[in-house]
Amino acid sequence: AMFTGKMHGRNEILGYHDEMREMIEKQENLAMYLRSAVDQEELFLQYQPIVNISSGETVGVEALVRWQHPILGRVSPLDFIPLAEKTGLIHSIGNWVLKQGCQDILALGQPDLQLSINASAVQLEEQNFIESVMDILHETRFDPRRLKIEITESALMSDIQGVTDKLQQLRDAGIEISIDDFGTGYSSLHYLKKFPLDTLKVDKSFMDEIVATEGDSTIAKAIIDLGRNLGLNVIAEGVETAEQVAFLREQDCHFVQGYYFSKPLDFPVLEVFLAGKRLS
Ligand code: C2E
Ligand code: CA
Ligand code: CA
Ligand code: CA
Repeated sequence: AMFTGKMHGRNEILGYHDEMREMIEKQENLAMYLRSAVDQEELFLQYQPIVNISSGETVGVEALVRWQHPILGRVSPLDFIPLAEKTGLIHSIGNWVLKQGCQDILALGQPDLQLSINASAVQLEEQNFIESVMDILHETRFDPRRLKIEITESALMSDIQGVTDKLQQLRDAGIEISIDDFGTGYSSLHYLKKFPLDTLKVDKSFMDEIVATEGDSTIAKAIIDLGRNLGLNVIAEGVETAEQVAFLREQDCHFVQGYYFSKPLDFPVLEVFLAGKRLS
């Protein structure tokens, strides 16, 4: 009993180091596994419908990358995308996502359906980013006007002039630009007006405020208004309830995306989903 306190303290220190080492090893292992994920065909895409709120029509889909490892199981993009950014693997993963997405969407044979893909700041900063995108569009014969690239608010703010130039080049090629997770970063509204943008995606956190009882939707309202007044299309993301849909309709939000309409779907399920929409 005399030694309990001391032993406890010692164990805690050892425990701390063990945990640190374990964490670092885990990250290194994960990075090692991730390195072979593309070649081993462990990545796949799911597609989440984006719906026109007034017509109910699915106007496009957002491609979301998934990683299914034979031993680790399913790893969330929230865990492996940051690692991919840190290790530089994001470039090959990003190229794979774009190519697979273009091929899948072309196979649907619905010429009006748009494809949205996510690009992180690290991808945008890469010298060859635009060239890679154009190469893949050319190779797959995907119409650039059907492609939307989603860039987070924080990525826009990292290098304003550089990013503006790149977005302009993409737009000159016919590609549309969406600002993702809007309202979570700290964009200067002044710059927001100057960026060549087409669409603003209102972050899910603002949808969470819109609840049937005691919800405060002041900020959600203001953000939707801001987007519309800047002449942008507004997509609300993370829409889960009928109350949220009613609110968004009242606010003249253009498009909606979320579990209320559909979860991200495996490609074969997306085909069925879209076929069902056509019949109804
Ligand atoms: P994001 O671009 O903001 O994507 C939306 C996330 O919200 C997705 O999570 C989606 O599954 C989820 N979501 C959609 N509707 C709802 C809803 O109604 N309720 C809730 N609770 N969640 C909803 P996911 O698929 O886990 O992706 C997480 C993030 O990983 C994405 O956030 C994006 O930043 C990143 N990511 C995914 N795929 C890619 C990719 O191909 N490239 C890059 N660079 N990042 C990606
Ligand atoms: Ca997104
Ligand atoms: Ca988002
Ligand atoms: Ca997000």
